[in-house]
Amino acid sequence: MTALDFVDDELAALEARGRRRGVRVVGGRRGAEILLDGRWVVSFSSNDYLGLASAPELIAAAGAAMAVHGVGASASRLITGTTDEVVELERELAAFHGGPAALVFGSGYAANTGLIPALVGRGDVVFSDELNHASIIDGCRLSRAEVRVFGHRDVGELERGLASGRWRRRLVVSESVFSMDGDRAPLDAIARVARAADALLMVDDAHAVGACGEGGRGYGMAAGADVVVGTLGKAFGTAGAYVVGQMRLIQHLWNRARSLVFSTSQPPAVMAATRASLRLVAGDAGASRRASLRARERQVRLGLHRLGLPARLEDDTPIIPIVVGDDRQSVACTEALLELGMLVQAIRPPTVPEGTARLRVAVSAAHTEPQVESLLEGLAGLVRCGLIVA
Ligand SMILES: *Cc1c(COP(=O)(O)O)cnc(C)c1O
Repeated sequence: MTALDFVDDELAALEARGRRRGVRVVGGRRGAEILLDGRWVVSFSSNDYLGLASAPELIAAAGAAMAVHGVGASASRLITGTTDEVVELERELAAFHGGPAALVFGSGYAANTGLIPALVGRGDVVFSDELNHASIIDGCRLSRAEVRVFGHRDVGELERGLASGRWRRRLVVSESVFSMDGDRAPLDAIARVARAADALLMVDDAHAVGACGEGGRGYGMAAGADVVVGTLGKAFGTAGAYVVGQMRLIQHLWNRARSLVFSTSQPPAVMAATRASLRLVAGDAGASRRASLRARERQVRLGLHRLGLPARLEDDTPIIPIVVGDDRQSVACTEALLELGMLVQAIRPPTVPEGTARLRVAVSAAHTEPQVESLLEGLAGLVRCGLIVA
């Protein structure tokens, strides 16, 4: 017996419930295909929505920056980690969003856990959609503000909540495109009730920036949010995240966001690759990749509809859930599709609510029409054998 034996019990308990997590190893990438545990498969589980993660423009930009800056940033942003590459990127991201200023963080998780505690604290309140991402939940917990969770997309409940108490400051936070459901928040209505209550509005645009909204600019700025979080590791194809907002807010974050102050800066080459990515996203290449993405999304949703599965045909986001329900059954679906050469990762609680384990299909501009057709054939097989109930 040792003091660490409890982990065996916890892992065994997860295993018994079909909930133990593990990883598969990726050995390479070409387009939407990945070399997974030694075998090429088509991935429908990547957030590389525009297929930019392996674009030659990004690779060349990273190489050139590495020749100048080396590999690591070597210190936090406030010590010597602020290179010309990250400063230029921040200027360009702010211009892209039509916002006053931007600040890059090491990841979306770091942005949310740094930002929220910088906005609210004891005596304040955060209103948070029940399906918000774990990094928002953790940011709320770290802030020590009171957290009021409102029903998914329930503006009425939010409005009543905002009117119901006395707090120093109020913050409303929602994703724009929800990461596990692919639906969109009613941001205009949320912005209206937040403004009426004199509350700050924060929008996490992680799954939208680059891929969705006018010109790929997401939805947060258009809705008039006070602060928007975008990620770089999804449609932009690199790594990291950023906050867009007023210059005084950014100045405040330089002093108060602990995940920025106490963490090593992003590698300069990643910043350079992101600048190359942003040029593509904001230009004709981005527009045409978004058009391909919309076509593939539509192909999946129409195909599901034909199989008798619930699919919101009016949605225009790259995330398409197929709720299986049971944890083990969702994993069995993933295994069956893997046999057919496709990766569609099962998403289980606590990432999603109990009883809603699902296949999360993530579509990319890098997918071809025949690849999506194969996916739909694979799913049809799962419906026929009863693993997915239509
Ligand atoms: C992915 C995601 C994050 C975290 O971003 P990382 O850069 O992966 O840490 C934050 N918020 C939402 C809504 C996300 O989907």
